[in-house]
Amino acid sequence: TKTILLASRPKGLPTNEQFQFDTLDLPAPAAGQVLLKTRYVSVDPYMRGRMNEGKSYIAPFTVGEPMAGGAVAEVVESQNPALPVGSLVVGNLPWQEYILSDGKGLNPVPADKAPISYFLGLLGMPGLTAYFGLLDICQPRAGETVVVSGAAGAVGMVVGQLAKIQGARVIGTAGSDEKVAYLKQLGFDEAINYKTTPDIAQALAAAAPAGVDCYFDNVGGPITDAVYDLLNKHARIALCGQISSYNDTEVPVGPRPESKLLKTSAKLQGFIVGDYYSRWPEGVQKLTEWYSQGKLQFEETITEGFDQIPAAFLGLFKGENTGKAIVKVA
Ligand code: NDP
Repeated sequence: TKTILLASRPKGLPTNEQFQFDTLDLPAPAAGQVLLKTRYVSVDPYMRGRMNEGKSYIAPFTVGEPMAGGAVAEVVESQNPALPVGSLVVGNLPWQEYILSDGKGLNPVPADKAPISYFLGLLGMPGLTAYFGLLDICQPRAGETVVVSGAAGAVGMVVGQLAKIQGARVIGTAGSDEKVAYLKQLGFDEAINYKTTPDIAQALAAAAPAGVDCYFDNVGGPITDAVYDLLNKHARIALCGQISSYNDTEVPVGPRPESKLLKTSAKLQGFIVGDYYSRWPEGVQKLTEWYSQGKLQFEETITEGFDQIPAAFLGLFKGENTGKAIVKVA
């Protein structure tokens, strides 16, 4: 089977050089094992962190070993009665066309509920990130102003819609005019193209005349600096991601936000969606409910072909995706 290994650790923005295509011989499944055929692979910004050495909330990838991440796969051979041939599963799986598995850590994909790739997006890790980060940490109330950066991505587009369901006024930032138009179509009250706006601070201030009560931060950097100047008393900030600095080779510097948090009695909380693991069923149930009621829409950018996984991953850092970046393998 084909596989993609981490060839070397990147310095700065990764390139194709970091990925090595290889083939593996897989034995037939032994008792308790299944052979999985990969259907959809998720590419996610956090994988950039795993390409680095060093301690984090998740272990780094090993050089010379397969890259791995969220994937939906189908059981094509089975020696495990709990996973008959034809079963669809989602789990953390190596970037391989076929995978030998003992079934541990795999969850069933309820294909009657939504397109199966949604279990890597709206009804999977990114959707749950939006759900817990917004509803648990930001706790927006009706009439409050919510800003979400990276708004047209997998997490951001769900955050904005959930904030609308809560009755908030929602402002999003994103990197193209097409994305801005898409966010308006989704019901965002305001959307700003941070790449073409001459003055992001001014644009945000104009979009949030009543100040900002909640900020869901996916990107960090200058957008975040500008939002901090608009915080209202008792603002809540969910620090979800900092994609603008993931490829930095030096520690990014900027204004010190502490005095702004102090003056507004704001609450800033970093979080990892895995912190909420015990509550995932609740999140999936609520998201599924809103989706089936037509209250939540979802978008995917699907790239075709196993060989395109590295390109789709690298595309995250160029803003090539609207909604969830997915690779259709088979
Ligand atoms: P997205 O679908 O949002 O894809 C990444 C997007 O980031 C791109 O499309 C691009 O959109 C934007 N981007 C890339 N570079 C920059 C930059 N320099 N400045 C601003 N925006 C940039 O990814 P996800 O929705 O999966 O993830 C969003 C964020 O949430 C990431 O930071 C990720 O690490 C984090 N995350 C955190 C989790 C947690 O548990 N804390 C779990 C899941 C995700 P654009 O065109 O707008 O530039």
